[in-house]
Amino acid sequence: MPLIRFSLLLLASIALPLGAQRVAPTAPNVAPMIAGIDAASARYADVARRIWELAEVGYQEEKSSALLQSELRAAGFTVKSGVAGEPTAFVAEYGSGKPVVAILGEYDALPGLSQDSVPVRRPLKAGGAGHGCGHHLFGTGSVAAAIALKRWMQTGGTKGTLRMIGTPAEEGGSGKVFMVRDGVFDDVDAVIAWHPGSGNSVMGESSFANISGKFRFHGQSAHASASPERGRSALDAVESMDVMTNLLREHVPEGTRIHYVITKGGSAPNVVPDDAEVYYYVRHGDMAVVKDVWRRVEDAAKGAAIGTGTTYDVQLIGSVYAFLPNETLARVQQRALEAVGGFELSASERDFAERLQRSEGFSAVPLEATARVHPLTIGRSSPASTDVGDVSWVVPAVQVYTATWVPGTVAHTWQATAAGGTSIGVKGMLVAAKSMAITGATLFSSPSIVAAARAELDAKRGASFRYETVLGDRKPPLDYRVGSVP
Ligand SMILES: [Zn+2]
Ligand SMILES: [Zn+2]
Repeated sequence: MPLIRFSLLLLASIALPLGAQRVAPTAPNVAPMIAGIDAASARYADVARRIWELAEVGYQEEKSSALLQSELRAAGFTVKSGVAGEPTAFVAEYGSGKPVVAILGEYDALPGLSQDSVPVRRPLKAGGAGHGCGHHLFGTGSVAAAIALKRWMQTGGTKGTLRMIGTPAEEGGSGKVFMVRDGVFDDVDAVIAWHPGSGNSVMGESSFANISGKFRFHGQSAHASASPERGRSALDAVESMDVMTNLLREHVPEGTRIHYVITKGGSAPNVVPDDAEVYYYVRHGDMAVVKDVWRRVEDAAKGAAIGTGTTYDVQLIGSVYAFLPNETLARVQQRALEAVGGFELSASERDFAERLQRSEGFSAVPLEATARVHPLTIGRSSPASTDVGDVSWVVPAVQVYTATWVPGTVAHTWQATAAGGTSIGVKGMLVAAKSMAITGATLFSSPSIVAAARAELDAKRGASFRYETVLGDRKPPLDYRVGSVP
């Protein structure tokens, strides 16, 4: 079906059902490239499902990363694994010279979101990890786009370098931040990424910057009843800190987000806990605000330690910039997404979707959303964070969302994990792969667009901009998820 659509749209734009206006892509011979993705769809569905089942968390994605690398090697890419001190990161490359266009792929899962591909809550493994952010589709769809684009380059004798960059630990591990800091993107001219979602749109808006870290308090254990005066409770310190930061919420700039989980709180009520830990995030659209609020959260930790007679240390885990939208690339990606279009749900997918939409906490929107493409909107700020943010400050970058989830789904829910394991996830993933492949072909065909995107980035960040991360010269926190998944 998509092949037929493409044959037609190369002749002229045509009006299709649901009022979607197809537009012609701006690169030559994209129809065979799109057909190639469709022809391999069963294979990519299998790869995505395997990564979904593996559900490996940040910096522990050994098998998921190896699987994606093997697909790229088999397709003729040269693959370098383990970059920027991250064993599960990789760079796959084809071609030579300029421009250098990179496609990003993620593959880490989230703790606690294990879920079968059914429309009721049913973990595959109690307390286990799951792909509640759809990164199994993210990595696989990007590999599909890269392989299709490589074949298009080969067929047309296109000059330039194509890279598929495997980026671990997006969920809190700031995987890309260390890669940016260590120069992985230094010679890259444009970056294309996507993200699973519940609709089809191009990210024209910014995101939130953040800082995250773990506060560990150290006290003195004692019998909680026989000799409590000898004890100094590390859990008291965590609770005191949390009370202070919860009061802080009233006195921070509008739009600030502060969240935490207590990752260690003692093991038995009759033992005064001498060891407790709380894991914090601070977010805002402006990194200057994030830095200031983080300093005040650290002050709360200091006060809590003094008041409870404990000591503490803090381990900075992650920090990302707000995403810097590149309007030049966003318009190219929007055109590609409109050319590909959305998709219809089959009868069984519709049944699954309707049942999922009836689950608790769901805010249902019409299922026809999977077939629509949202118009491009520039400038709003989304309260989520992504480490693509850091990439977007050193290379012009674009990110597209596609409907891999049931319309109305929010990320980081069991409902997202469930739909991501079905054919709905695969259909959305293929829309993303095709859109990114067309965008890549357009960039390789149009040096003036690549130059305009760079000029836009230079103008937006200003001549005095120098990239630096609050993570400084720290090594990637490879163990930040150790112990978080049973
Ligand atoms: Zn994500
Ligand atoms: Zn996420």
